Amino acid sequence: MQESMKVCTGNFGKHAQSIEAYKKLGGYSTISKSLFEMSQFEVIDRVQRAGLRGRGGAGFPTGMKWSFVPRNTGKPVYIVVNADEGEGGTYKDHFLLLEDPHRLIEGLIIAGWALGARSAYIYARGEFLPCIESVNKALNEAYAAGYLGENIMGTKFSFDIFVHRGAGAYICGEETALINSLEGQKGQPRLKPPFPAVAGAWASPTCVNNVETIMSLPWIFSHPVEEYTKMGTPRAHGTKVFCVSGDVKRPGIYEAPLGTPLMEMLTSEEYCQGIVGKLKGVIPGGSSCPPLLPEECENATLDYECMAALKTMFGSGAIIVFNDTHNAVDLLDVLGHFYSHESCGQCTPCREGTGFAKRVLDSIVEGKGHDGDIELLQHISAGFGGTTICPLSISLGGPLNVYTRKYRADFEEYIAKNPNHAEPRLRSTVR
Ligand code: NAD
Ligand code: SF4
Repeated sequence: MQESMKVCTGNFGKHAQSIEAYKKLGGYSTISKSLFEMSQFEVIDRVQRAGLRGRGGAGFPTGMKWSFVPRNTGKPVYIVVNADEGEGGTYKDHFLLLEDPHRLIEGLIIAGWALGARSAYIYARGEFLPCIESVNKALNEAYAAGYLGENIMGTKFSFDIFVHRGAGAYICGEETALINSLEGQKGQPRLKPPFPAVAGAWASPTCVNNVETIMSLPWIFSHPVEEYTKMGTPRAHGTKVFCVSGDVKRPGIYEAPLGTPLMEMLTSEEYCQGIVGKLKGVIPGGSSCPPLLPEECENATLDYECMAALKTMFGSGAIIVFNDTHNAVDLLDVLGHFYSHESCGQCTPCREGTGFAKRVLDSIVEGKGHDGDIELLQHISAGFGGTTICPLSISLGGPLNVYTRKYRADFEEYIAKNPNHAEPRLRSTVR
């Protein structure tokens, strides 16, 4: 796609980390008197007209989320950037933070003005040390240049940004667990509602937005809204930053309009340049999204609605490609280990169910599977729906259900390796 239409990655490879370089590339052009002359309503309206949807995974309309924030409650409004990227296969925010930290700051100033916030927190994954360094350096430069702090550009608007380093727990990427962790409490999800937009950090209205969502704002505010809405699909405007991994010739980060055909992403010269080996499946949006079979990939487009119609999720834009040298049981076993390890333990179906599924999968992989294990895994999956506080349980539940159906032969082949597979499974074999 045209360099000038890249909303978030236009500065990649251009050494935009310093404020001088960022400004030379057009950065901070939106932080001007004209922004502060816009009312908060006008700023939110512009984001709504652009149709920006949250880029962390759920795709919730950003302007609508902002519009839920109650005004004049006497409580401060907080903005929290979710930079706790942890979904399997997702690595876009890591590079966005490293390559272009000032774009995040510029986006946050716009969001801060729109929401009437005094402070924003960037909650960064604990392991993201180089990113944190990059953001902190950029913050110091932005303060020195007068873009942050008291009375920005001589206006009444004062705004501070703090970086908070997480400790590497996947569950702290869930917005309410993140807020608990930010407050210094145990990083466990809260029941919703109330949604954070109404009662989040320190019980105050809090907008939690993904890194890429906030980084889309400078482009949206420096171009006519129509430029943004003409990209993408009627229900999902703009571009998305995809991170592709697995069996493709050129894995990496690619920004493309929403609605781009999946096979174009995987095979075109501009993006991944082809699949390595014979395609067996594509996980379209991160490890919690059920995979698509090759025939489902043919006409699939990279957007929320198409993926929902294919009974999977668009997710965070992490595309994982696997060829026929991979066994679906092995892939699912990795997910079983990951999600059972990361379960925070509050809800019994999640705490027990993810561990139970992992042990059944382990025993299949060890050649100790039994007839009926496929149905057992599907039964465990069915126990998650609507029974837990957050979606971590169904992040394993969806794959358990879909892998066992779409790749049943892989499971049967593994189970047949056990000479005693026809005997019923004893409870003691999954302890
Ligand atoms: P969600 O649909 O519950 O919420 C999405 C956002 O909209 C939240 O900020 C929520 O507060 C807000 N919202 C929804 N309804 C609202 C209402 N009525 N009023 C006010 N606000 C409202 O989804 P979620 O649990 O936040 O996120 C799930 C997604 O996260 C999954 O799709 C998964 O792909 C993704 N995910 C991403 C990563 C990553 O590393 N990027 C990690 C784990 C999961
Ligand atoms: Fe914790 Fe799992 Fe319950 Fe989420 S579903 S709150 S991770 S136990």
